[in-house]
Amino acid sequence: MSEISKRFKNVMSRIGQAADQAGRSKEDISLMAVSKKQSVESIMELFELGQRAFGESYLQEATQKQHQLQLCEGLTWHFIGPIQSNKTRLIAEQFDWVHSVDRLKIAQRLSEQRQSNLGDLQICLQVNISAEPTKSGVSPDEIKQLALQVSKLPHLRLRGLMAIPKRETDFEKQRVPYRMLRKLKEELSQDLSLDLDMLSMGVSDDYEAAIAEGATIVRVGTELFGPRG
Ligand SMILES: *Cc1c(COP(=O)(O)O)cnc(C)c1O
Repeated sequence: MSEISKRFKNVMSRIGQAADQAGRSKEDISLMAVSKKQSVESIMELFELGQRAFGESYLQEATQKQHQLQLCEGLTWHFIGPIQSNKTRLIAEQFDWVHSVDRLKIAQRLSEQRQSNLGDLQICLQVNISAEPTKSGVSPDEIKQLALQVSKLPHLRLRGLMAIPKRETDFEKQRVPYRMLRKLKEELSQDLSLDLDMLSMGVSDDYEAAIAEGATIVRVGTELFGPRG
């Protein structure tokens, strides 16, 4: 068995176990393979093993890979990096999902630039859940207004929230920001009557804690591919 297929099986089985422990069905949790700084060959290998969702943070790098992988039918591309406004057009044209929307201007541009024949662009709003001054993400105080505005934009479908909390090694500490994000999503769904079904949370180091708190998509890079090149 190749290194990558061992890694893939291991991640899938850990997701299954974390789901069991949380009393959740593993079908309710999907895996995004974070392929930034990883090779097209490794992506191809995971694709052949059945992986479909891939996450990229750098537009130029992603564009090249997308070109090389255009024959991989059913592959979905998720943009997870910081977004500059001059990059929105390509993101709107080349991705299925964007997890890192944190201001209205970016959402408006994605909405205007998404071609209707591509169907709605799926959106998660990135929340600065650990309130770190340098991190991107909308603050929890401002999320409600942003969610309301984004939910009204054509060609976008607001699906939920995303966060990249401060790294912690202790399992219980890892759960805290993810619990906050889940509660925030519940509040938004109720207060604004929005149908939000996604919690994009959990990376290699903490996806089990994220699953315990309700993650519906975990974003795993290093543990699937090995260290980034
Ligand atoms: C790089 C990255 C990941 C994956 O991190 P790993 O620790 O390699 O699993 C997940 N989410 C975002 C937003 C990232 O930029």
